[in-house]
Amino acid sequence: MNVRDSERLATVLASFGHEVVDSEDVADVYILNTCSVREQAEIKAVGKSRYLARKKLRKGDVLLGIVGCMAENLAENLFKLNPGIDFIVGPRCIGELPELLSNGNINRVALLGEAKADDITESVHNFSRRNVCASVSIMQGCNMKCSYCIVPKTRGRETYRSMEDIVAECEALVKNGTKEITLLGQIVNNYGQNTLANGNGKSPFVQLLERIDSIPGLGRIRYMSPHPKGFRRDLIAAHARLAKLCPSVHLPVQSGSDRILKAMRRPYTRARVLFIVEALRNCAPNISLTTDIIVGYPGEGEVDFQETVDLLSAVRFNMAFIFKYSPRVGTISATLPDDVSDDEKDRRNKVLLDIVQRCSIEHNETMVGNEVEVLVEGKAKRGENKLCGHTKYGDKVIFDGHDTLTGEFANVKITNYSTTVLCGELIGV
Ligand code: SF4
Repeated sequence: MNVRDSERLATVLASFGHEVVDSEDVADVYILNTCSVREQAEIKAVGKSRYLARKKLRKGDVLLGIVGCMAENLAENLFKLNPGIDFIVGPRCIGELPELLSNGNINRVALLGEAKADDITESVHNFSRRNVCASVSIMQGCNMKCSYCIVPKTRGRETYRSMEDIVAECEALVKNGTKEITLLGQIVNNYGQNTLANGNGKSPFVQLLERIDSIPGLGRIRYMSPHPKGFRRDLIAAHARLAKLCPSVHLPVQSGSDRILKAMRRPYTRARVLFIVEALRNCAPNISLTTDIIVGYPGEGEVDFQETVDLLSAVRFNMAFIFKYSPRVGTISATLPDDVSDDEKDRRNKVLLDIVQRCSIEHNETMVGNEVEVLVEGKAKRGENKLCGHTKYGDKVIFDGHDTLTGEFANVKITNYSTTVLCGELIGV
């Protein structure tokens, strides 16, 4: 969602004659797009904003703005934390930024809360260049109240784009050379809930997937992130039916303990998670599953933690983001004692990371010798003549090749691996 917001920033500013530059040294506006989901993210963003404020002082005649969830969450307090900041803009008001910048005299301006106009209908893409993989936001906000989460405060309640609008954006992307589209939403499978009708037992989200699946020239569809609560049979069955829907699902379970899930206000049980996993694997064998876990939530005891260990061992997720709990001001859980020590959070974090790493290595080992189809995304960050892409299962693959292959589906034989990457040889396209 942050990447989408950054794209939106660049696109709305470009349409008003601004230009994104490669270096802070030549910029005349510094805009820091921020995340509030964890304390660490905010600490880093405040540190970076102070660095930019010092740079601004040396350079003179430069503006410094903070955009995104941290702007919304900390609001005017940010001006006290860093007096060098000129403006703050919440994620729902990004569309109002050009007007603000054209307004010469900017002195501690805050654009927060609901946007003056609908901020989610517009496309965020720069069509002057080709994006092999593109993200399309289908909704904003979240109606849930997970006890630890700041998102409903920073992004507001759910609002959905029209299906026509989304499909038109996907068609335009494909026409411009996009081969893979990821549909984005805070709870992506909640799309259209209570506003669009179910049809033939299919939720609005599954109807949307069907329409995008039928766009000629598109190769792959992904979505991020679904909620276990709304993961129903129609979505599971879509993984067996829709040819372009990747066999890869990020299912954020957060904990394996029913007691902690209830305390987190996550309305499902570990049994429900195991049911979804089994049903998905029946529909799409070898489907890749990833997840998010929080360790050290208030009151999480050893028994609760072991239930999470058991869940990770039972499901064998291909990858998991493990977060150490940190209280976020303004959330329900921030009023509870943060009673798991930092050392214990570190220990639990490490135990889970070891499990995930083991599963990942074992999976990667089984891939050696296989031929896989890779959508080539471009040059790899490191290595001469190395290309980088992903399989439909989400495995990252690096191999030798010329960057004219960017945007092609390449057949690659896997020859080696690390914990996170598969390496291979190009067989053909
Ligand atoms: S579902 Fe829960 S964790 Fe996810 S964005 Fe909504 S409130 Fe936050």
